[in-house]
Amino acid sequence: MLLIGAPGAGKGTQSARLQRDYGFAALSSGDLLRRHVAQNTPVGRQAADFMSRGELVPDSLMIRLLVTELASMQEEQDSAGAVPNGAGWLLDGFPRNRVQAESLDKTLAAGESPLNLVVSLNVPDEVILERILSRWVHAPSGRVYNLGYNPPLRSGLDDVTGEPLTQRPDDNADVFRARMRAFRETTEPLLEHYERQGVLVKLHGETSDVIYDQLRQSPPP
Ligand code: ATP
Ligand code: MG
Repeated sequence: MLLIGAPGAGKGTQSARLQRDYGFAALSSGDLLRRHVAQNTPVGRQAADFMSRGELVPDSLMIRLLVTELASMQEEQDSAGAVPNGAGWLLDGFPRNRVQAESLDKTLAAGESPLNLVVSLNVPDEVILERILSRWVHAPSGRVYNLGYNPPLRSGLDDVTGEPLTQRPDDNADVFRARMRAFRETTEPLLEHYERQGVLVKLHGETSDVIYDQLRQSPPP
């Protein structure tokens, strides 16, 4: 399954719920990149400037990174034996453009775990900007809090580890505009690609609760 949506549309939140309730093995390209930046790896050093400007990281780097990570996710699932309830995999943030989508198509065609569902998350623009500005994250895990409607139990600290929360350097109004432009111009057109494959479901709502209720009731198309 893929989650596609504008920055701040709630991909990370929906992904966390699907992992909790259905045992999906999930991968967020943004979280993965942020871990590389935090650990100052060669990948992180190449990606950091693009991310801080709200631009897409080059495809060659992204595809290598994701294909490797997907393969090791698949191995982990295989070595864990039977997966409960036939749980599958979930990607958030990848693919982001046509080249990445076609590369994923090829990777999947060669494997045994097809793409069944692509969910497009639609949230009004004014709600999204508000969310981005009040978002705090636990960087190592990618856990997300919102000071307004989903605050941490203890101010400024992660509920699970007690470690400090931070704001993403790209969560400000200027970089948000660039991220939004990249989404409209290169990611949103992918919806047609998946509509043609017959796997697209479009959901709308102002809150992640409303969207998650719809998501749970969406059979694959
Ligand atoms: P949100 O996390 O709020 O849903 P987002 O979609 O803007 O917002 P991420 O998916 O975390 O954020 O991505 C953050 C940045 O990482 C992007 O702006 C981009 O620079 C880079 N990035 C993430 N995924 C990709 C990708 N598939 N291809 C190219 N760059 C990517
Ligand atoms: Mg995200």
